[in-house]
Amino acid sequence: MKFHTRRRFIGAAAALPFAGAAFAQDLALTPACGPQAALTPRQTEGPYYTPDTPQRASLVEPGSKAGRLTLSGRVVSRSCRPVARALLDFWHCDDRGEYDNVGFRYRGHLYADAEGRFRLETIFPAIYPGRARHIHVKVQAPGRRILTTQLYFPGDARDGLWRPELVVAMERRAATRLAAFQFIVDA
Ligand code: FE
Repeated sequence: MKFHTRRRFIGAAAALPFAGAAFAQDLALTPACGPQAALTPRQTEGPYYTPDTPQRASLVEPGSKAGRLTLSGRVVSRSCRPVARALLDFWHCDDRGEYDNVGFRYRGHLYADAEGRFRLETIFPAIYPGRARHIHVKVQAPGRRILTTQLYFPGDARDGLWRPELVVAMERRAATRLAAFQFIVDA
C-alpha cells in the first residue's frame, strides 16, 4: 500500500477553480456539524486503493447505462468551519461489483471549493459479495492527516463495517440518485 506524500496529495489545489454546479441543497447533509459533532469515523482502506488517481468531478464512463449517482456535500471542521480546498479521492466498484485494479475506472479525486463544497458525478455502485454497498474515500484538509473512510447508502443490507454515521442522505430523481454527505474533519 503506497500512500501519497502530503505534497503530492494536496499539490495543485490552489490552481483549480471549482465548477460551481448545483448541489443537492434540499437534501439534509448527514451528519450535522456543531458542538456535539463527532469527527467522521475512519474505516479500513480495503485492498483496492490505487494512488495517483486522475483529477475529475465525473467518474461516469462514456456510454455507460449504469444508474447515475450524484454525491455532493461539504467538508467542515467540528465547529462547522468550511475546509476550503479539501482533497477528496474516491473509488468504488462498478455496476457489476468489480473494481478496476489496472486502470482508473470509478477512481478519481477532486477538490472542495472555498466553501468546502464538493460534487461528484458517478454511478451507483453494485453490492459485491460480503460487503454492504459502499464508496471508498480519502479526505484531506490541506496539510492535515488523511481521513480514509467509506460511505454507505440508506435502505441497503448492512455488514460488519457499516456505521450509521457514514450513511449518506439520498433521494431518487428520475434515473439519478442524489446523495449528500458532510465530512467532519480535524482542521
Ligand atoms: Fe470496497
